[in-house]
Amino acid sequence: MMCLPGQVITDLETHYPYSRYLKETFGETTYKVPVASGLSCPTRDGALSKDGCAFCDLRGSASYFGKQGRGRNIAEQLRERIPGIRERFGARKFLAYFQSYTNTYAEPARLEELYLEALGVEDISGLCISTRPDCLPDPVLELLDRISQDHYISLELGIQSFNDQTLDWLKRGHNERCSIETLERLAVRAPRVDVCAHLILGAPTDVPGTARDAALKLNAGRVRGAKLHQLMILKSSELGERFATDPFPTLTLDQYSERVLEFLEYLSPGIYLERLCATASHKDECLGPDWSCDRWTPHNRIREFLERRQCVQGSKVSDTVRL
Ligand code: SF4
Repeated sequence: MMCLPGQVITDLETHYPYSRYLKETFGETTYKVPVASGLSCPTRDGALSKDGCAFCDLRGSASYFGKQGRGRNIAEQLRERIPGIRERFGARKFLAYFQSYTNTYAEPARLEELYLEALGVEDISGLCISTRPDCLPDPVLELLDRISQDHYISLELGIQSFNDQTLDWLKRGHNERCSIETLERLAVRAPRVDVCAHLILGAPTDVPGTARDAALKLNAGRVRGAKLHQLMILKSSELGERFATDPFPTLTLDQYSERVLEFLEYLSPGIYLERLCATASHKDECLGPDWSCDRWTPHNRIREFLERRQCVQGSKVSDTVRL
């Protein structure tokens, strides 16, 4: 992993924050504006399954699409939302965030229409595209590479775990090998695309060292960023049904903080952290862990924990990885 100028952990930081990455990349804070593409995913449309991934709350994902996307094209969605964000935060630059479902799951010609429509909206500085490792065939990588020659693209890649037992338990429909091969293909075929890996920590199938192993694989995979989530159990998901009939352990906030610490210490300091934990968007739908319902307390407690333990991102990786 190249560590570019400015991408070092400062004395005041336990890790490389997303806010600094955005300032280094765009010169100022830049805001993500969610848009609904209307695309599906192979674990919803029957290609792999019709049940969804075990942690996925269809109502949660669908609600955004239902409220914000249906019947309106990408440009309309962006133009409707940008003024409010501009006014509230004094923002001037925005990224179109293709967030829900799998936003590379269509023919390249259709994807190109969607992406270029977003890029044609005034003040849009680039794209953030959420997808799965098994939905990036070569023609899609060629499209992303072509667009990335003139525009910023961040690919939010739902790796979730590098542990096959956990991937099976989550019913993801892809395995570790698929994620590693996709990272390798992205690095070669679409090198200007910034990959941000999504990971879930805390499945009962995880083994000691899971967080360290994931960090080392992201270092080797040359990702630009990472987004961490605790395993969260939502009532309307398959995990919710399993948990109701046969409860399984979830992590306390201290246990989760330990895994975040382990992850950060093995993660190259050139990889930014967009998120250290997630918040349940519908509190009444969250079955556990209960701290997932609170927005700020877990963030603050994790930060305090990292400071108390004198966390320095990348402190346990070798100099060859750090450079
Ligand atoms: S987690 Fe993503 S890929 Fe899995 S069912 Fe939900 S939207 Fe589809």
